Amino acid sequence: MVNRRAFLKTSASALPLARSLESLHPLTEAGSDAPTNLGTAAPILIALPDRLPALDRASLPWQQNVRRVAQSNMTEHDPAVMNIEEWANFWHSADADIVFVSVTGILAFYPSKVQFHRPGKFLAGRDFFGECVAAAKKRGLRVVARMSPDLNWGDALEKHPEWAMRNTDDSVQFSPEEPRLFRTCMFSSYMDDYIPAIIEEVNTRYDVDCFYTNGWPPIGRLPNCHCAICSKLPPSNTTAYWRAFNDRVLELWQRYDQLAKKKKPDSFFFANLGGNVHAGPNLDRLGKTAVWFQADNQGRTYEDPAVWGCSLQGRVCSAVMDGKFAANVTAAYSTGSVHWRNLSKNPAEARMWLNETLASGMAIYFHFIGSEDGIGEDRRWQKIGAEYFQWAAKHDRHLTPRRSLANIGVVMGQSTQLLYQAPAVTRAPAFMRETTHGLYETLLSGRFAFDFVHEDRLQADRLSKYRALILPNVAMLSDLQCQQISNYVKSGGSILASFETSLYDENLRPRADFGLGDVLGISRSGEVIGSNGNSYYGRIERAHPILAGFADTHWLPGAQNRVPVKPIAQPVLTVVPGFVQYPPELAYPPLSHTEEPAVVLRERDSSRIAYFPGDIERTSWLTGHGDLARLMHNTIRWITGEESLVSVEGEGFIEMFAWETEPGYAVHLLNYTNPNAHHGWMNSVYSLGAQTVSLRLPTGARVKSVELLRAARVLPFRLEGGVLRFVIPQLQDYEVAAVTVS
Ligand SMILES: [Zn+2]
Repeated sequence: MVNRRAFLKTSASALPLARSLESLHPLTEAGSDAPTNLGTAAPILIALPDRLPALDRASLPWQQNVRRVAQSNMTEHDPAVMNIEEWANFWHSADADIVFVSVTGILAFYPSKVQFHRPGKFLAGRDFFGECVAAAKKRGLRVVARMSPDLNWGDALEKHPEWAMRNTDDSVQFSPEEPRLFRTCMFSSYMDDYIPAIIEEVNTRYDVDCFYTNGWPPIGRLPNCHCAICSKLPPSNTTAYWRAFNDRVLELWQRYDQLAKKKKPDSFFFANLGGNVHAGPNLDRLGKTAVWFQADNQGRTYEDPAVWGCSLQGRVCSAVMDGKFAANVTAAYSTGSVHWRNLSKNPAEARMWLNETLASGMAIYFHFIGSEDGIGEDRRWQKIGAEYFQWAAKHDRHLTPRRSLANIGVVMGQSTQLLYQAPAVTRAPAFMRETTHGLYETLLSGRFAFDFVHEDRLQADRLSKYRALILPNVAMLSDLQCQQISNYVKSGGSILASFETSLYDENLRPRADFGLGDVLGISRSGEVIGSNGNSYYGRIERAHPILAGFADTHWLPGAQNRVPVKPIAQPVLTVVPGFVQYPPELAYPPLSHTEEPAVVLRERDSSRIAYFPGDIERTSWLTGHGDLARLMHNTIRWITGEESLVSVEGEGFIEMFAWETEPGYAVHLLNYTNPNAHHGWMNSVYSLGAQTVSLRLPTGARVKSVELLRAARVLPFRLEGGVLRFVIPQLQDYEVAAVTVS
């Protein structure tokens, strides 16, 4: 072991502590400590892959050419007051491609013959749905027939008590907001008989393009029903229940899809999805079936406050849809823990959600719920939506991605997100949400380009594009998934994993030791340990690139919780064991030194492995301690060999996406430098200065132009040694640099 005093003297001598905290540039050798601002370190640019062959978009299924989706969500009162011509004119003039029109299932918007499909009380025998469909079609708009299978009324319950979701005491589950409506069970004949009857009736009578169900399947949670059918299923929130749930979702999805196709082969069924990484249905299975991913992810909430909520959803869609269609619903109305369902939200926030939708590769979708005159008492949303749609319509070719340019894959452990509970000692009910946001924020502040990779899609051909995989407490992994990750490492890939990654199998059965123990070079030495008032520390044992920029300290902050692992040779950081923070008289470690590693690092050929035994991403999210972010930035740079496909240098907290497009490339920058990045809604924009973008083009690619789509200007560029460089002089809320190549 090196002498710690000597190490401090050589590697971190000159920098005062405060200044060194600003520095994030990794040291290539001890002492070369040129400080740079957060996020501005220039990586080694790897050449972009050869361009994809040209695509004939006209040959694609029609929905893949939909770019703008519109919805005025219809109320029972609308047939009495809504001006259908005005509604259709508005969305047509806004350049929408497709509109949602309500069939529903709770209330019929047309004279339905299906029993218990009760007409709305203002329908008065009128075919409101049919009139809306005709008005849309007359203007060349496609139509989604929108249904709601989740609730129905007392007369249906009386005749069909088996349709209801039940509590453990057999009482019926009612809507918490409208107790006249009962909640329907997705395993009951309601879904086998009643919903198909509506689909068939609508398909027979009307010229609609596809069918959609709102309110089913559930988003971000699993149902908890104790009806006669469900009580025979495994208990909710178990892996066995999740499998039964997924089987049922797929069975109904495919059945409704076949009904939709009966009239037109290019029609289809799709349902409400969302919930980003903790979606309800298994997204690997659903992604293979669905041709439209409807992300019902309309805005931020108090519980899930991060501004990047829509981009996060877009990354999930990219991971499971393989280029098929995805749209994210932006609520023009005021979403959140306190709702105003018929009132516009802050324009800056609504625009940012649309920005994130486009940047992350989804189609934009604007949604408002009218009242009174059917368009709404508050019409401010119309201008926001129409202007945004009209701008986007001018740039469809640049705004339609073909593939992402990223060399980091973040493994999306959907089963862990849904079913795993962190050990009780952590006292953290939102453990995985905090973990996800902590890693996400870290990747953004480090300006890394990354994709999500679903846990069931770890096949070698899918992983080969990534220099590194990150496993943020992916606790549940099957033997097969562990083997796939091991194979990836053997083929030269790098990984970063944390906390309980691989300590459970796919059925949530705990393993005696890590499933990835051999790959990570670790062995568990005990149960998860929480902390008592005072979180852990890591003691610096020797110089290493992951410690770049740390000066004048022997200790770094550790995580709040940790899995103790057995000692290793030549640790870089060791755990300083827990002690109290109060009283200060006792705030010192019981042992000045331990052999327990606080990070485990391995290097073999081009493969680099890093494992943090602590919940480091989550602790970073909870605290904002810059040392944790720096440690993770350094570690990610180390495991990727500092390689990147795209570099964006400049000030500020941004999210970036880089895509190959049909004309060339598109680099999207989202400016989150805002007091409302982590709370509430954005109310205004704080612009940023110059951002320098660099890409190493594939051999033979020639640049015709670089254009800023938001600022509407052509940019000068330089091409040196195959590297394309240009400067975006100012960044408002959002910019797209569109590169056209020949
Ligand atoms: Zn049930």
